[in-house]
Amino acid sequence: MTRSPPKPRAYAPDPDAPGRFCDIPDCAHPGQYRAPKSRTQLNEYHWFCLEHVRVYNAKWDFYKGMTPGQIEHELRADACWQRPSVPLGTLGARIDDSMLRDPHHVLNAGLAGRRGTANRAPDPDQVPKELREPMATLGLEWPVTMDALKSRYKELAKQHHPDANGGDPASEERIKTINLAYATIRGRIGEPQEAGQA
Ligand SMILES: [Zn+2]
Repeated sequence: MTRSPPKPRAYAPDPDAPGRFCDIPDCAHPGQYRAPKSRTQLNEYHWFCLEHVRVYNAKWDFYKGMTPGQIEHELRADACWQRPSVPLGTLGARIDDSMLRDPHHVLNAGLAGRRGTANRAPDPDQVPKELREPMATLGLEWPVTMDALKSRYKELAKQHHPDANGGDPASEERIKTINLAYATIRGRIGEPQEAGQA
């Protein structure tokens, strides 16, 4: 049986996924999707989350042979990279057009700064409307720091990972909801920082 590598694939989690996080260094999503490392390493794979495997496959010619760190660096230069790529509206999260047309959140810059949120007095009433549901999904309180968001997300991702639940389809649904909530909040509270700055 041969696997023929870079062909368009259905975006279903790979049953052989090793149950670890996405290979993109800063990504806390489960790496459930396989992508060959390069044309010369067709039997070696990166494991990416859905969002990143889509980007990777779409830009295969560009990314082939790069390490996940290099790919991440390229991704960070891409304004689109924070966007959740789960089909809109499927999970009840309110992602509205204005968010999608405003990937850098300039229109809502007053609500959540890039990094300076800690300097502002927290006001629970200021939780942006479209984040209320995602925040509740993750059991977080506003305002939330990127660190708190990430660690909470990792916790939940482990807890609800289908591998940890005997492949229960309900777990997959939960993880999708959690992933979307995470992506939505993350897209709002922070921009990707420059890679490799110490
Ligand atoms: Zn990822």
